[in-house]
Amino acid sequence: MRKKSSKFIYLDHAATTPMASQVIKVMESLQKEIFGNPTSPHFIGRKAQAVVDQARKTVANFLGTSHSEIIFTSGATESNNLAIRGVVKTYQEVVKHPEIITSPVEHHSVLETCKDLEKEGVKIIYLPVNQEGLVKINHLEKLITPDTVLITIMYVNNEIGTIEPIKTIGKTINLINQEKLKNKKQSLPILFHTDAVQAVPFLNCQVDYLGVDLLSFSGHKINGPKGVGVLFKRKGIPFLKIQTGGDQEYNFRAGTQNVPGIVGLGKAIELCQKSQRSYYKKMNQLQAWLITQLEKARTELKLTGPRGKLRIPNNVHVRVNGVLGEELMFLFDQKAQIAVSTASACTAGATRISSVLLALGLSEQEAKEGLRITMGKTTTETDLKKFIFFFKKFVNELKNNSRKDLLLSK
Ligand code: PMP
Repeated sequence: MRKKSSKFIYLDHAATTPMASQVIKVMESLQKEIFGNPTSPHFIGRKAQAVVDQARKTVANFLGTSHSEIIFTSGATESNNLAIRGVVKTYQEVVKHPEIITSPVEHHSVLETCKDLEKEGVKIIYLPVNQEGLVKINHLEKLITPDTVLITIMYVNNEIGTIEPIKTIGKTINLINQEKLKNKKQSLPILFHTDAVQAVPFLNCQVDYLGVDLLSFSGHKINGPKGVGVLFKRKGIPFLKIQTGGDQEYNFRAGTQNVPGIVGLGKAIELCQKSQRSYYKKMNQLQAWLITQLEKARTELKLTGPRGKLRIPNNVHVRVNGVLGEELMFLFDQKAQIAVSTASACTAGATRISSVLLALGLSEQEAKEGLRITMGKTTTETDLKKFIFFFKKFVNELKNNSRKDLLLSK
C-alpha cells in the first residue's frame, strides 16, 4: 500500500513562523556551550554577556541605532506593554490626565494595555481608519491636545496586512514637538511608538527614517525563537521601567536574559537583513498570483485591505459572501492539512469577532466571513495551487450545504 503523504501546508505565518535552520543551529550549539548568567562577573558569565552584546549590536544595526537603545524582552506583548506603560508612568508625574492616541486596528497587546490604563485616568483617543484599515492621518493634528503624551500606531496590521504611514506620522509629531518647544508651552515632547512585528521581514525599520521614539518586534515572527522580543527606546526620552528587580537591560527590564533566545533572534535579524529585498519580491509575486486565482475562483469574493504597495506582500485576507471563515478554516485543517486563520492567533481560540474587521466598517456577519492566508519563507507556488484547489472545493461544499438547509427549512 502506498504510504499516505504527511505533507502539511502552513499558511499562517502572521501567527508564527518556523525557526530557520541557521537559527536552530546557533541556538543548539549555544545551549551546550554557554550557560552562564550574563550579569555574573566571572568568565562563564562574561561569555554569555559577549553573545548577548553581539546580538544587541546586530539588532541595533538593523534599526540604525545604538546598542544602548535596545532592550530585550520576552516578546512583542511585553515590549508593547513596556513602551506604553513606561511612557505613561513618567508623564503621570507631570500631566494629570495623560492622553494616548492609538488606532482601533492595533494588536490586542496595545489595545488592552490602553484599556487597562483608562482605569488609571488615562484618556485613550482612537485615530479612525478607512475601509482598508489605513489610519486617517489628516485627523491626527485635530486629536492632539496639550495632554497628549504618546501616539502608538502599528507599522503593519497583522490581520489584513495594511502598511500604516509611520514615516508621515513621525514627521507630523516632530513638527508639533518643535512648535511646542518654541512656544515653551510644555517641556515634554509627544512620544511616538510603533508595533513593527509584522513589518520587520519586509520594510525599512530604521528608527530615524521612521521618526519613532519606541519600536517593538518579536523573534517568532521572523523565523526566530518564541519568548523573546525587542523594544527600541530612544536615548534620553522620558521613560521609566515598569518591572522591579535587577538592573539588566540598562536598568529598563529586570530579569535574567533569555540568552539562547536573544542569540537566536540576533541570527534571525541577520538573515532578515540579508534577504529583505528578494523575500519581498518572491512574496509579492506569490501574493499577486494568489489574489488573481482567488478572484477567478469566486466572483463574489472580496479582498479585505488594500492592494499593491500599501499591503504587506505575504498577506491575503478574503471573504466569500455567506461562507463563515471558521467553517472554511476547519475544513482546511481537517480535510486538507492546510493551516490558515480567521483572525489574529491570540483571538482565534475564542470566538471573538475581529475588532479589526469591525473597525473597517464590516458588519458582524461580514467579519465572521474573514479568512487570512499568510505566506512565508517555505511557501511555494505548488502549496498555493493546492490551497486554491481545496478553496474552490470547500467553498462549493459550504455553499451547497447552506442551499440544502434553506430548501429543507422551506
Ligand atoms: N503585535 C502584533 C502586530 C502581532 O502580530 C503580535 C503577535 N500576534 C504581537 C504584537 C504579540 O507578539 P508576541 O507573540 O511576541 O507577544
